[in-house]
Amino acid sequence: MNSRARATPILKKSTPLMKEIALHWMRRDMRLHDNRTLFSALKSGLPVLSAFLFDEEILRRLDNTQDRRVSFIHHRTLALRNEIRGLGGELLVGHGTPREVWASWIQLLASKGFAVKEVHVGRDYEPYAQERDQSLAAWFDEQGVAFRGTKDSVIFEKSEVTKDDGKPYTVFTPYSKKWRKALESKDYDLAPSVEALTQATLIGTSELGDLVPPSLKSMGFEDVWEDGTWMPPITVANRVLRDYGEHRDFPALPGTSRLSMHLRFGTISIREALRQGLKVSEKWTTELIWRDFYQAIVYHFPHSATDSFRPAYDEIPWINDEAQFDAWCQGKTGYPMVDAGMRELLQTGFMHNRVRMVVASFLCKHLLIDWRWGERFFARHLLDFDLASNAGGWQWAAGSGCDAAPYFRVFNPSSQLQKFDKDLIYVRKWVPEYGSSTYPKPIVDHAMARVRAIETYRSVLKPNPA
Ligand SMILES: Cc1cc2nc3c(=O)[nH]c(=O)nc-3n(C[C@H](O)[C@H](O)[C@H](O)COP(=O)(O)OP(=O)(O)OC[C@H]3O[C@@H](n4cnc5c(N)ncnc54)[C@H](O)[C@@H]3O)c2cc1C
Repeated sequence: MNSRARATPILKKSTPLMKEIALHWMRRDMRLHDNRTLFSALKSGLPVLSAFLFDEEILRRLDNTQDRRVSFIHHRTLALRNEIRGLGGELLVGHGTPREVWASWIQLLASKGFAVKEVHVGRDYEPYAQERDQSLAAWFDEQGVAFRGTKDSVIFEKSEVTKDDGKPYTVFTPYSKKWRKALESKDYDLAPSVEALTQATLIGTSELGDLVPPSLKSMGFEDVWEDGTWMPPITVANRVLRDYGEHRDFPALPGTSRLSMHLRFGTISIREALRQGLKVSEKWTTELIWRDFYQAIVYHFPHSATDSFRPAYDEIPWINDEAQFDAWCQGKTGYPMVDAGMRELLQTGFMHNRVRMVVASFLCKHLLIDWRWGERFFARHLLDFDLASNAGGWQWAAGSGCDAAPYFRVFNPSSQLQKFDKDLIYVRKWVPEYGSSTYPKPIVDHAMARVRAIETYRSVLKPNPA
């Protein structure tokens, strides 16, 4: 979208008889509780209407009609619509490109006597979202609509945590120290959005009629959660967080929060997670800081979403063997920890963090396959897919990232198995044929692959790997 093209206002002028309203456009904040963006719309003093749009620019890139995330979001919009209706309001749900949908909403609302005065969004730091929002801000301006962004999905954004000279951090440890130093209770206070909702004037079905949201089918997708299991647990027990430091690396244990998808879509608030982390587990809190860190990296270095953070790493002569890539994708490499992880991913849309590190390192270093192939595969399958954390995690494993594992450190998938799943509980769960004659032989020899990876990396990174 070209932000400089002058748009024609959709409506000639709002007439004095039209009632001015504020819209809350939900994106990464798919909840009512502790929602700063919603609260900011409610504070405008205008009657409020919430909205969600299925962005065709994003949907058209999804090649799987059974994409679990689209189903999840669809179920979530219906649930939120019911909740908001219960309070006398409404959730508009649209499908199309953002500009098309907004043009149709502005017209629809005008036909019901409403003039959209303000649109409130939670800020999003990914390159596509940044571009979309800049372009929309200019367009809304043409329409006489104020486009207001609120920080909601992170604790600190943009340049709130920087080095003393104002430059962004590219190394995690000093970033996290500064982050902790900067933290005040106002950064994680609960936004009283639910309370405000119950007191606000909301636009509801009595004004708008019964607007029918788009079905999954009409958008080209199928419901993969017809059985009602679409919402995984949305809380984590303090007990899990207390043992987090000891249990987090063992994939057979329920040792991590499993909240990543909820944090991704904002079905829970990051501030709520942090309040629990601060009370219960310092180690877990650090993981939430990693999340902020990667959001800041993608904001300051948008190229790192698609290219190596350190450009020299884009010169690595990857082998990119498609048959080996297929074996990796299907969990048939002959390395049980790698295979268990990939099968967990295919079957559930989740993979344990320790195993993500092992499979990613295996792809880049043992197979010498471009980290972007793996990153895209994860993007297609992970329920919690988040561009910033995913590209960050992949580049950490490939060595090309801002604060990455050194290129000469090559995880040994067999020692990782010994250390973190020595009783094979995780492996047997996902690779039941392990140990039988049907389990594949290793597609690559570890000792050879390790030396080959180090030599290949060294050949392009000498003398200066930065
Ligand atoms: C190659 C690779 C790809 C990854 N892709 C993603 C991704 O697309 N989306 C994603 O949310 N995480 C990603 N991660 C980070 C991490 O693996 C997941 O956040 C974690 O496994 C989710 O499980 P959990 O909710 O039980 O995490 P917990 O261990 O309970 O951590 C709590 C929360 O902290 C955040 N977090 C934890 N670890 C990290 C991390 N290393 N970087 C950033 N945030 C973190 C997540 O929001 C997580 O839900 C990736 C890691 C690697 C190595």
